[in-house]
Amino acid sequence: KMVLSLRKIKKTHNYGTEQAIPVLKGIDLELPAGKVVAIVAPSGAGKSTLLHIAGLLDDEYGGEVHLSGQDMSRANDAARTAARRQEIGFIYQFHHLLPEFSALENIVLPQLANGTPRRQAIDKAMDLLSRVGVADRASHRPAALSGGQQQRVAFCRALANSPRLLLADEPTGNLDPATSEQVFSALMGLVRETGMAALIATHNMELAARMDRTIRLDAGRISAKAS
Ligand code: ADP
Ligand code: ADP
Repeated sequence: KMVLSLRKIKKTHNYGTEQAIPVLKGIDLELPAGKVVAIVAPSGAGKSTLLHIAGLLDDEYGGEVHLSGQDMSRANDAARTAARRQEIGFIYQFHHLLPEFSALENIVLPQLANGTPRRQAIDKAMDLLSRVGVADRASHRPAALSGGQQQRVAFCRALANSPRLLLADEPTGNLDPATSEQVFSALMGLVRETGMAALIATHNMELAARMDRTIRLDAGRISAKAS
């Protein structure tokens, strides 16, 4: 069964105005559990727009988004918010960690918000931090961590509630090549261990080549697939 199905997704920013910008012109994508798919496209091609729609953060688009077999394009706000919290993890180019909380707390808080008991949330956070090699920095605030460490903590936070789907927008875009490699390996390790599905936008062809499949966005359509 598919974790994510995008069907004929169309999007025009500023729809119905003179500044209308057609960005996506009919995107079809099937993402099964356990698969990692790269979206490669030049800047401005619509990767973020597509990830927003897949992440149920946009409700003005054409086509359908199915999450675990359910058509979310027709769901109300409450249902979309619940699905987003429980089933989707997000990672961005910049980590967006809460600066006044420790690395550990940044991973515990979303679990508490989701109803997980504190003790269990802490165990989960420590387990995730160990897997990406940052356990010894658990009590540090983000500002005391290197860029690569911050981004690994952000991965742990994204995975804190065990989502079925991980959406990543240029997750290593802000890092130097060596750190980028370290962070990407950590990400792939976590994704493989948990068996989730992941959609990862990147400019980096070398990283894309290590995923299961690459999708290219060109002029609002998928132009080629390589497996
Ligand atoms: P067509 O019939 O030409 O395929 P659509 O009516 O499906 O066109 O949509 C055209 C564009 O407007 C698409 O990019 C779609 O995502 C976008 N769109 C459709 N409905 C809305 C809406 N309610 N608000 C904003 N954008 C929309
Ligand atoms: P990418 O992530 O591939 O760089 P984006 O999805 O951010 O591309 O943007 C695709 C296109 O849509 C660009 O032309 C961008 O200027 C435009 N765009 C993105 N967001 C908005 C918005 N909120 N309003 C109007 N245009 C937008």
